[in-house]
Amino acid sequence: MFSRSSVFCVRRLFCAENVRFYAGVFQKSARLKPANATVDYIKAKLGANGAPTVEEWEDIRSTILNERRFNDTNVDSVVLGLCPNLSIGKSYVGYMQEKGLGTNLAIVGKLLRLYRLTEDRLTDQDEADIWRMYSELREQNSVLDANTCEHAINALTLTKHWRHSLELLDMIKIIGTPDSTSYNCIATKAFLSGEETLGWAMLKEMCDNKRLPNDETFLSWLEYSRRDGQPFAKNVEKMLQFTNENSVFLSKHIGNALKSLPKESGVVAQETRVTDNGKCSNCKGSLASIVVTEESFQKLKEKFLEAIFVNKEIFNRTTPDELRRFQNVLKKTTPYDVVIDGLNVAFSSGNQKSPTAYAQQVAAVVRHYVRQKKRVLVIGRQHMDKWRSKEMKYIRENSFLFLTEDLSQDDPFLLYAALESGPQTDFFSRDLMRKHSFMLGDTVSGIFKRWQQEHQYSLLSILPDGRVMIKAPFKYELYAHKSVDNRWHVPLVECGYRIPKVEKQPEWLCLSIAQA
Ligand SMILES: [Zn+2]
Repeated sequence: MFSRSSVFCVRRLFCAENVRFYAGVFQKSARLKPANATVDYIKAKLGANGAPTVEEWEDIRSTILNERRFNDTNVDSVVLGLCPNLSIGKSYVGYMQEKGLGTNLAIVGKLLRLYRLTEDRLTDQDEADIWRMYSELREQNSVLDANTCEHAINALTLTKHWRHSLELLDMIKIIGTPDSTSYNCIATKAFLSGEETLGWAMLKEMCDNKRLPNDETFLSWLEYSRRDGQPFAKNVEKMLQFTNENSVFLSKHIGNALKSLPKESGVVAQETRVTDNGKCSNCKGSLASIVVTEESFQKLKEKFLEAIFVNKEIFNRTTPDELRRFQNVLKKTTPYDVVIDGLNVAFSSGNQKSPTAYAQQVAAVVRHYVRQKKRVLVIGRQHMDKWRSKEMKYIRENSFLFLTEDLSQDDPFLLYAALESGPQTDFFSRDLMRKHSFMLGDTVSGIFKRWQQEHQYSLLSILPDGRVMIKAPFKYELYAHKSVDNRWHVPLVECGYRIPKVEKQPEWLCLSIAQA
């Protein structure tokens, strides 16, 4: 084995040319990855017990070099990137040193990252090594690239020098948005260091930047909250409130942590299910309704019309003539009970079918509503006019049909018709409408999302006998929230690291929190 102190003298290993090559390139570079088979082969070798021998490292290195994209400059950072933990990484650096191989920013970055992957607590020597490597990077580069900043944040936040991460975060922001891991590492360390305000500021900024808080961050908040003098129950409530305000789900892992809290903590959490009618099977209480009030609906409608006619947004692929033609139709035929996005329905089971099959799908959905005596508007495109069939005839005779020009987008017409028609009107589409929600600004986009959740239906499937299976909206709060009786209902997702579907989750917690 190689002695610890000699392994980490990065300054001596630094190859000046490589440093110059990387310095100042502060955008995030694409990650070079070997073929999957190569990765699997190397991972299997590195997953075996103990660090590889010099010969085995030799073999691993040359396996990657056999792929033509790799050369002496980039091969070593790739090997380090595949190391499963810190001790194997250190072993490779020792090998590099023995072979007299030079190092560069990418290599140091990958090595810094590996400090996260150790099961033992870091030793004082490890902390000193991280600080030395980081200091040397900063001495030799006025600006670090985003990847290196992220690697350094991962390592620095394991040490008492963690506050330097904030400077690196700013450096990443010069050109882009920091990744979730960087934010989470800093927030976690801030909470564990008792810097509550900074921790929450990181969490907020992360969510504003569409990054995802992870389990460690929330667990570190709970750990901090358990300390003497902290109002534990109130802190749990603060966390739940945050997830509500920022549309974040907690994972089952956090759910388990909440469930295993002792009674004295003031928080009692029980597993529960929620019915489609918003009832909790544990406390029999109801979830909060998301139904949009008449007043909020008017505000949403006004803002939408303003976006169309004042700011000339939304219908930006539509001619003024076409928009006028549509307004005339609306004037004559509103209100509708439901507005259907025809093409969205037609293509919902693939777009490799015949026009007759498309028309059959749309007709089946129209028939479903007509049987309930509903007044239906179908938005389609002009090319649907060529789908000559008895189904198209049925659609024309039983609903209002508006065909847009082929290059227009359908969703603006759909939303306009539904909003113009009134607060009770539903719409039928699988489209997520994210772009339009974004355009309406923060306050109104919240109303838009609730209105969408309340009124959007979509097609699940059509049975052979022509009956349609429809996904109906869940008209209750999707995120953790407090009900009227002071209980919290908290949906749980499988994994806190992946963006979950914004829909009703199957698993919930029913929580009572002691009021101070
Ligand atoms: Zn309940």
